[in-house]
Amino acid sequence: MKNTKQLNQQPLSAASMSPKLFRKMLIVAVLGFSAIWGIDASSGIISHFDAIAYPICISAFLFVFVLSIVTNINHQSLHFLTYFIVAGYLISTSIWHHMAENGLFSNSAQWLGLNYVIAYLFLEVKKAAPTTIIVFFATIIGHYIAIIQYHTLADTIGVVLNIAIAHLIYIYLLWTVIKLRIKTDQITERADTLENFAYVDLLTRILNRRGIEKVFNELNLDSEEQHKIYAILIIDIDHFKQVNDTFGHLAGDQALTRIAGKLSRTVHPNDVLGRWGGEEFIVLTLNRTPQQVMELAEKIKSAVSNLTFDDIDSITVSIGIGYSYEATSKENVFKIADNHLYIAKQSGRNTIRSSIPS
Ligand code: GH3
Ligand code: MG
Ligand code: MG
Repeated sequence: MKNTKQLNQQPLSAASMSPKLFRKMLIVAVLGFSAIWGIDASSGIISHFDAIAYPICISAFLFVFVLSIVTNINHQSLHFLTYFIVAGYLISTSIWHHMAENGLFSNSAQWLGLNYVIAYLFLEVKKAAPTTIIVFFATIIGHYIAIIQYHTLADTIGVVLNIAIAHLIYIYLLWTVIKLRIKTDQITERADTLENFAYVDLLTRILNRRGIEKVFNELNLDSEEQHKIYAILIIDIDHFKQVNDTFGHLAGDQALTRIAGKLSRTVHPNDVLGRWGGEEFIVLTLNRTPQQVMELAEKIKSAVSNLTFDDIDSITVSIGIGYSYEATSKENVFKIADNHLYIAKQSGRNTIRSSIPS
Protein backbone atom coordinates (compact mmCIF):
# COMPACT_ATOMS: atom_id res chain seq x y z
CA MET A 1 0.00 0.00 0.00
CA LYS A 2 1.25 3.45 -0.80
CA ASN A 3 1.79 5.33 2.41
CA THR A 4 2.69 8.92 3.25
CA LYS A 5 6.42 8.21 3.37
CA GLN A 6 6.40 6.94 -0.20
CA LEU A 7 4.71 10.10 -1.42
CA ASN A 8 7.59 12.42 -0.62
CA GLN A 9 11.08 11.57 0.54
CA GLN A 10 13.92 14.05 0.97
CA PRO A 11 17.30 13.23 2.45
CA LEU A 12 18.45 15.63 5.17
CA SER A 13 22.17 16.06 4.52
CA ALA A 14 24.55 18.74 3.39
CA ALA A 15 26.47 16.17 1.39
CA SER A 16 23.88 14.36 -0.72
CA MET A 17 26.24 13.91 -3.66
CA SER A 18 25.41 11.12 -6.08
CA PRO A 19 28.11 8.47 -6.76
CA LYS A 20 28.18 9.65 -10.38
CA LEU A 21 28.90 13.26 -9.39
CA PHE A 22 31.52 12.09 -6.89
CA ARG A 23 33.36 10.15 -9.61
CA LYS A 24 33.18 13.19 -11.90
CA MET A 25 34.75 15.31 -9.15
CA LEU A 26 37.54 12.73 -8.77
CA ILE A 27 38.25 12.96 -12.51
CA VAL A 28 38.35 16.76 -12.19
CA ALA A 29 40.81 16.40 -9.28
CA VAL A 30 43.03 14.04 -11.33
CA LEU A 31 42.96 16.41 -14.33
CA GLY A 32 43.55 19.49 -12.13
CA PHE A 33 46.54 17.98 -10.33
CA SER A 34 47.94 16.62 -13.63
CA ALA A 35 47.62 20.05 -15.28
CA ILE A 36 49.39 21.86 -12.40
CA TRP A 37 52.04 19.14 -12.27
CA GLY A 38 52.62 19.52 -16.03
CA ILE A 39 52.81 23.33 -15.86
CA ASP A 40 55.13 23.36 -12.81
CA ALA A 41 57.37 20.65 -14.24
CA SER A 42 57.67 22.17 -17.72
CA SER A 43 58.39 25.67 -16.36
CA GLY A 44 61.04 24.23 -14.05
CA ILE A 45 59.57 25.84 -10.88
CA ILE A 46 58.34 22.59 -9.38
CA SER A 47 59.48 22.08 -5.78
CA HIS A 48 60.98 18.81 -4.55
CA PHE A 49 57.92 18.37 -2.39
CA ASP A 50 55.39 18.76 -5.20
CA ALA A 51 57.43 16.61 -7.58
CA ILE A 52 56.68 13.73 -5.20
CA ALA A 53 53.31 14.88 -3.85
CA TYR A 54 51.53 15.43 -7.20
CA PRO A 55 51.89 11.84 -8.49
CA ILE A 56 51.00 10.48 -5.03
CA CYS A 57 47.78 12.56 -4.93
CA ILE A 58 46.84 11.65 -8.52
CA SER A 59 47.35 7.93 -7.77
CA ALA A 60 45.33 8.29 -4.57
CA PHE A 61 42.40 9.92 -6.44
CA LEU A 62 42.49 7.15 -9.05
CA PHE A 63 42.58 4.57 -6.26
CA VAL A 64 39.45 6.09 -4.66
CA PHE A 65 37.82 6.20 -8.11
CA VAL A 66 38.43 2.46 -8.58
CA LEU A 67 37.25 1.75 -5.02
CA SER A 68 34.00 3.59 -5.72
CA ILE A 69 33.35 1.30 -8.69
CA VAL A 70 34.57 -2.14 -7.63
CA THR A 71 33.66 -2.12 -3.94
CA ASN A 72 30.53 -1.20 -2.08
CA ILE A 73 32.32 0.87 0.57
CA ASN A 74 30.02 3.55 1.96
CA HIS A 75 30.41 6.65 -0.22
CA GLN A 76 30.60 8.94 2.81
CA SER A 77 33.83 7.14 3.78
CA LEU A 78 35.21 7.66 0.28
CA HIS A 79 34.30 11.37 0.46
CA PHE A 80 36.19 11.49 3.74
CA LEU A 81 39.24 9.71 2.27
CA THR A 82 39.31 12.07 -0.72
CA TYR A 83 38.99 15.03 1.61
CA PHE A 84 42.02 13.90 3.59
CA ILE A 85 44.10 13.49 0.43
CA VAL A 86 43.35 17.12 -0.53
CA ALA A 87 43.63 18.57 2.98
CA GLY A 88 46.73 16.49 3.74
CA TYR A 89 48.40 17.74 0.57
CA LEU A 90 47.48 21.40 1.09
CA ILE A 91 48.61 21.49 4.72
CA SER A 92 51.84 19.59 4.18
CA THR A 93 52.88 21.53 1.06
CA SER A 94 52.26 24.84 2.83
CA ILE A 95 54.25 23.74 5.89
CA TRP A 96 57.07 22.43 3.71
CA HIS A 97 57.22 25.69 1.77
CA HIS A 98 57.30 27.68 5.00
CA MET A 99 60.53 26.02 6.08
CA ALA A 100 63.26 28.57 5.45
CA GLU A 101 65.46 26.47 3.22
CA ASN A 102 62.49 25.57 1.00
CA GLY A 103 61.64 29.16 0.06
CA LEU A 104 59.74 31.13 2.65
CA PHE A 105 56.05 32.08 2.30
CA SER A 106 55.45 30.38 -0.98
CA ASN A 107 52.22 30.43 -2.98
CA SER A 108 50.76 27.35 -1.21
CA ALA A 109 49.36 29.16 1.85
CA GLN A 110 46.52 30.89 0.04
CA TRP A 111 45.04 27.53 -0.96
CA LEU A 112 44.60 26.43 2.64
CA GLY A 113 41.14 28.01 2.93
CA LEU A 114 39.94 25.38 0.46
CA ASN A 115 40.24 22.78 3.23
CA TYR A 116 37.30 24.31 5.07
CA VAL A 117 35.19 25.01 1.98
CA ILE A 118 35.57 21.43 0.72
CA ALA A 119 34.80 19.98 4.16
CA TYR A 120 31.53 21.89 4.47
CA LEU A 121 30.51 21.30 0.87
CA PHE A 122 31.17 17.60 0.62
CA LEU A 123 31.15 16.04 4.08
CA GLU A 124 28.12 15.43 6.27
CA VAL A 125 27.60 18.35 8.65
CA LYS A 126 28.24 16.07 11.63
CA LYS A 127 31.68 15.18 10.25
CA ALA A 128 32.55 18.54 8.69
CA ALA A 129 32.56 20.48 11.98
CA PRO A 130 35.07 18.31 13.91
CA THR A 131 37.11 17.75 10.74
CA THR A 132 37.63 21.48 10.21
CA ILE A 133 38.70 21.87 13.85
CA ILE A 134 41.31 19.09 13.45
CA VAL A 135 42.49 20.55 10.14
CA PHE A 136 42.70 24.01 11.72
CA PHE A 137 44.94 22.84 14.59
CA ALA A 138 47.09 20.69 12.27
CA THR A 139 47.59 23.75 10.05
CA ILE A 140 48.45 26.13 12.91
CA ILE A 141 50.73 23.75 14.82
CA GLY A 142 52.47 22.53 11.62
CA HIS A 143 53.20 26.06 10.44
CA TYR A 144 54.37 27.12 13.89
CA ILE A 145 56.85 24.24 14.07
CA ALA A 146 58.13 24.93 10.54
CA ILE A 147 58.60 28.69 10.99
CA ILE A 148 59.92 28.83 14.58
CA GLN A 149 63.03 26.88 13.55
CA TYR A 150 64.44 29.76 11.49
CA HIS A 151 62.64 32.86 12.81
CA THR A 152 62.14 34.78 16.00
CA LEU A 153 59.24 33.91 18.24
CA ALA A 154 57.62 37.31 17.54
CA ASP A 155 57.82 36.83 13.74
CA THR A 156 56.53 33.27 13.99
CA ILE A 157 53.62 34.24 16.18
CA GLY A 158 52.81 37.12 13.81
CA VAL A 159 52.56 34.81 10.80
CA VAL A 160 50.77 32.01 12.64
CA LEU A 161 48.26 34.42 14.21
CA ASN A 162 47.47 35.82 10.77
CA ILE A 163 46.82 32.32 9.45
CA ALA A 164 44.76 31.46 12.54
CA ILE A 165 42.52 34.53 12.37
CA ALA A 166 41.90 34.19 8.63
CA HIS A 167 41.08 30.51 9.06
CA LEU A 168 38.75 31.06 12.00
CA ILE A 169 36.84 33.59 9.88
CA TYR A 170 36.55 30.99 7.09
CA ILE A 171 35.26 28.41 9.55
CA TYR A 172 32.81 30.81 11.20
CA LEU A 173 31.35 32.02 7.88
CA LEU A 174 31.03 28.50 6.49
CA TRP A 175 29.41 27.29 9.71
CA THR A 176 26.87 30.12 9.44
CA VAL A 177 26.05 29.13 5.86
CA ILE A 178 25.66 25.49 6.86
CA LYS A 179 23.37 26.41 9.76
CA LEU A 180 21.14 28.27 7.33
CA ARG A 181 21.21 25.27 5.04
CA ILE A 182 20.19 22.89 7.84
CA LYS A 183 17.32 25.22 8.71
CA THR A 184 16.15 25.30 5.09
CA ASP A 185 16.32 21.50 4.92
CA GLN A 186 14.22 21.23 8.09
CA ILE A 187 11.65 23.69 6.79
CA THR A 188 11.44 21.79 3.51
CA GLU A 189 11.01 18.51 5.39
CA ARG A 190 8.28 19.98 7.55
CA ALA A 191 6.51 21.36 4.48
CA ASP A 192 6.72 17.88 2.88
CA THR A 193 5.24 16.30 6.02
CA LEU A 194 2.39 18.82 6.05
CA GLU A 195 1.80 18.24 2.34
CA ASN A 196 1.65 14.49 2.99
CA PHE A 197 -0.96 15.09 5.70
CA ALA A 198 -3.15 16.65 3.02
CA TYR A 199 -3.18 13.26 1.26
CA VAL A 200 -4.11 11.13 4.26
CA ASP A 201 -7.55 10.50 5.67
CA LEU A 202 -7.43 11.49 9.33
CA LEU A 203 -9.91 8.88 10.52
CA THR A 204 -8.62 5.77 8.77
CA ARG A 205 -4.96 6.80 8.15
CA ILE A 206 -5.07 5.58 4.57
CA LEU A 207 -4.92 7.78 1.47
CA ASN A 208 -7.81 10.15 1.03
CA ARG A 209 -9.40 11.05 -2.30
CA ARG A 210 -6.74 13.67 -3.07
CA GLY A 211 -4.00 11.17 -2.20
CA ILE A 212 -5.54 8.51 -4.45
CA GLU A 213 -5.75 10.99 -7.33
CA LYS A 214 -2.12 12.02 -6.80
CA VAL A 215 -0.86 8.41 -6.84
CA PHE A 216 -3.08 7.55 -9.84
CA ASN A 217 -1.58 10.50 -11.74
CA GLU A 218 1.97 9.59 -10.73
CA LEU A 219 1.46 6.05 -11.99
CA ASN A 220 0.69 7.50 -15.44
CA LEU A 221 -2.01 4.86 -16.01
CA ASP A 222 -3.13 6.32 -19.37
CA SER A 223 0.40 6.27 -20.86
CA GLU A 224 0.29 5.41 -24.55
CA GLU A 225 3.92 4.27 -24.65
CA GLN A 226 3.73 1.80 -21.76
CA HIS A 227 0.59 -0.24 -21.83
CA LYS A 228 -0.45 -0.46 -18.18
CA ILE A 229 -2.49 -3.41 -16.97
CA TYR A 230 -4.57 -2.60 -13.94
CA ALA A 231 -7.95 -2.95 -12.31
CA ILE A 232 -9.92 -0.56 -10.14
CA LEU A 233 -12.07 -1.98 -7.33
CA ILE A 234 -14.68 0.22 -5.66
CA ILE A 235 -15.67 -1.19 -2.30
CA ASP A 236 -18.81 0.17 -0.66
CA ILE A 237 -20.06 -0.84 2.78
CA ASP A 238 -23.59 -2.24 2.72
CA HIS A 239 -26.34 -0.45 4.63
CA PHE A 240 -23.83 1.66 6.53
CA LYS A 241 -26.43 4.31 7.27
CA GLN A 242 -28.29 1.69 9.32
CA VAL A 243 -25.10 0.97 11.29
CA ASN A 244 -24.88 4.64 12.20
CA ASP A 245 -28.58 4.89 12.95
CA THR A 246 -28.56 1.80 15.15
CA PHE A 247 -25.20 1.97 16.93
CA GLY A 248 -24.27 5.63 16.68
CA HIS A 249 -21.83 7.63 14.64
CA LEU A 250 -18.89 6.81 16.91
CA ALA A 251 -19.36 3.06 16.45
CA GLY A 252 -19.65 3.79 12.72
CA ASP A 253 -16.30 5.63 12.81
CA GLN A 254 -14.65 2.75 14.66
CA ALA A 255 -16.03 0.28 12.14
CA LEU A 256 -14.64 2.37 9.27
CA THR A 257 -11.19 2.41 10.92
CA ARG A 258 -11.24 -1.35 11.51
CA ILE A 259 -12.32 -2.01 7.94
CA ALA A 260 -9.61 0.30 6.52
CA GLY A 261 -7.01 -1.52 8.64
CA LYS A 262 -8.27 -4.89 7.42
CA LEU A 263 -8.15 -3.73 3.79
CA SER A 264 -4.55 -2.50 4.29
CA ARG A 265 -3.51 -5.94 5.47
CA THR A 266 -5.41 -7.74 2.73
CA VAL A 267 -4.13 -5.93 -0.36
CA HIS A 268 -0.61 -6.36 -1.77
CA PRO A 269 2.01 -3.75 -0.74
CA ASN A 270 2.11 -2.53 -4.35
CA ASP A 271 -1.65 -2.04 -4.53
CA VAL A 272 -2.99 1.46 -3.94
CA LEU A 273 -5.63 1.67 -1.25
CA GLY A 274 -7.58 4.75 -0.26
CA ARG A 275 -10.83 6.07 1.15
CA TRP A 276 -12.72 7.61 -1.73
CA GLY A 277 -15.16 9.24 0.67
CA GLY A 278 -17.85 8.27 3.18
CA GLU A 279 -17.99 4.50 3.40
CA GLU A 280 -16.38 3.89 0.00
CA PHE A 281 -12.88 2.58 -0.56
CA ILE A 282 -10.78 2.18 -3.70
CA VAL A 283 -8.15 -0.40 -4.56
CA LEU A 284 -5.99 -0.05 -7.64
CA THR A 285 -4.12 -3.22 -8.43
CA LEU A 286 -1.45 -3.54 -11.13
CA ASN A 287 -0.48 -6.42 -13.42
CA ARG A 288 -3.00 -8.98 -12.25
CA THR A 289 -5.02 -11.24 -14.48
CA PRO A 290 -8.83 -10.84 -14.23
CA GLN A 291 -8.89 -14.10 -12.30
CA GLN A 292 -6.30 -12.82 -9.80
CA VAL A 293 -8.29 -9.57 -9.45
CA MET A 294 -11.41 -11.58 -8.72
CA GLU A 295 -9.50 -13.60 -6.09
CA LEU A 296 -8.39 -10.35 -4.47
CA ALA A 297 -11.98 -9.05 -4.46
CA GLU A 298 -13.20 -12.30 -2.86
CA LYS A 299 -10.44 -12.04 -0.25
CA ILE A 300 -11.50 -8.46 0.56
CA LYS A 301 -15.18 -9.38 0.74
CA SER A 302 -14.66 -12.26 3.13
CA ALA A 303 -12.01 -10.40 5.20
CA VAL A 304 -14.55 -7.65 5.95
CA SER A 305 -17.45 -9.99 6.62
CA ASN A 306 -15.26 -12.02 9.03
CA LEU A 307 -14.49 -8.97 11.15
CA THR A 308 -16.11 -9.05 14.56
CA PHE A 309 -17.31 -5.93 16.37
CA ASP A 310 -18.42 -5.26 19.93
CA ASP A 311 -21.98 -4.16 19.09
CA ILE A 312 -22.42 -4.55 15.35
CA ASP A 313 -23.25 -8.10 14.27
CA SER A 314 -21.42 -8.04 10.97
CA ILE A 315 -20.63 -5.77 8.09
CA THR A 316 -20.57 -6.69 4.45
CA VAL A 317 -19.35 -4.90 1.35
CA SER A 318 -20.29 -4.77 -2.32
CA ILE A 319 -17.50 -4.49 -4.88
CA GLY A 320 -17.53 -3.22 -8.46
CA ILE A 321 -14.54 -3.88 -10.74
CA GLY A 322 -13.28 -2.12 -13.87
CA TYR A 323 -10.35 -3.44 -15.94
CA SER A 324 -7.87 -1.35 -17.92
CA TYR A 325 -8.56 -3.30 -21.09
CA GLU A 326 -12.22 -2.23 -20.98
CA ALA A 327 -11.56 1.47 -21.58
CA THR A 328 -8.91 3.91 -22.78
CA SER A 329 -8.75 6.18 -19.75
CA LYS A 330 -8.65 5.62 -16.00
CA GLU A 331 -11.76 7.81 -15.65
CA ASN A 332 -13.70 5.39 -17.84
CA VAL A 333 -12.30 2.34 -16.05
CA PHE A 334 -13.50 4.01 -12.87
CA LYS A 335 -16.98 4.57 -14.36
CA ILE A 336 -17.16 0.89 -15.35
CA ALA A 337 -16.22 -0.12 -11.78
CA ASP A 338 -18.86 2.28 -10.45
CA ASN A 339 -21.54 0.79 -12.75
CA HIS A 340 -20.61 -2.68 -11.57
CA LEU A 341 -20.87 -1.52 -7.96
CA TYR A 342 -24.40 -0.24 -8.74
CA ILE A 343 -25.27 -3.63 -10.22
CA ALA A 344 -23.80 -5.39 -7.16
CA LYS A 345 -26.05 -3.27 -4.91
CA GLN A 346 -29.08 -4.04 -7.12
CA SER A 347 -28.25 -7.74 -6.95
CA GLY A 348 -28.75 -7.79 -3.19
CA ARG A 349 -25.36 -6.53 -1.86
CA ASN A 350 -22.50 -8.54 -0.24
CA THR A 351 -21.39 -9.45 -3.74
CA ILE A 352 -18.82 -8.68 -6.47
CA ARG A 353 -19.60 -7.59 -10.01
CA SER A 354 -17.42 -7.10 -13.07
CA SER A 355 -17.89 -7.63 -16.80
CA ILE A 356 -16.60 -11.16 -16.32
CA PRO A 357 -19.38 -13.39 -14.92
CA SER A 358 -18.31 -14.68 -11.51
P1 GH3 B 1 -25.78 1.00 0.53
O1 GH3 B 1 -25.75 -0.43 0.92
O2 GH3 B 1 -26.73 1.28 -0.56
O3 GH3 B 1 -24.42 1.52 0.24
O4 GH3 B 1 -26.32 1.76 1.82
P2 GH3 B 1 -25.57 2.78 2.73
O5 GH3 B 1 -26.43 3.04 3.90
O6 GH3 B 1 -24.21 2.28 3.03
O7 GH3 B 1 -25.41 4.01 1.78
P3 GH3 B 1 -25.78 5.50 1.91
O8 GH3 B 1 -25.06 6.21 0.82
O9 GH3 B 1 -27.26 5.71 1.99
O10 GH3 B 1 -25.19 5.94 3.28
C1 GH3 B 1 -23.84 6.03 3.53
C2 GH3 B 1 -23.69 6.33 4.99
O11 GH3 B 1 -22.32 6.36 5.37
C3 GH3 B 1 -24.28 7.67 5.36
C4 GH3 B 1 -23.33 8.23 6.35
O12 GH3 B 1 -23.94 8.43 7.58
C5 GH3 B 1 -22.25 7.19 6.50
N1 GH3 B 1 -20.93 7.79 6.60
C6 GH3 B 1 -20.24 8.41 5.63
N2 GH3 B 1 -19.07 8.87 6.13
C7 GH3 B 1 -19.03 8.53 7.44
C8 GH3 B 1 -18.08 8.71 8.48
O13 GH3 B 1 -17.02 9.29 8.31
N3 GH3 B 1 -18.39 8.21 9.69
C9 GH3 B 1 -19.55 7.54 9.93
N4 GH3 B 1 -19.77 7.06 11.14
N5 GH3 B 1 -20.46 7.37 8.96
C10 GH3 B 1 -20.21 7.84 7.74
MG1 MG C 1 -21.73 4.77 -0.69
MG1 MG D 1 -22.85 1.98 1.39
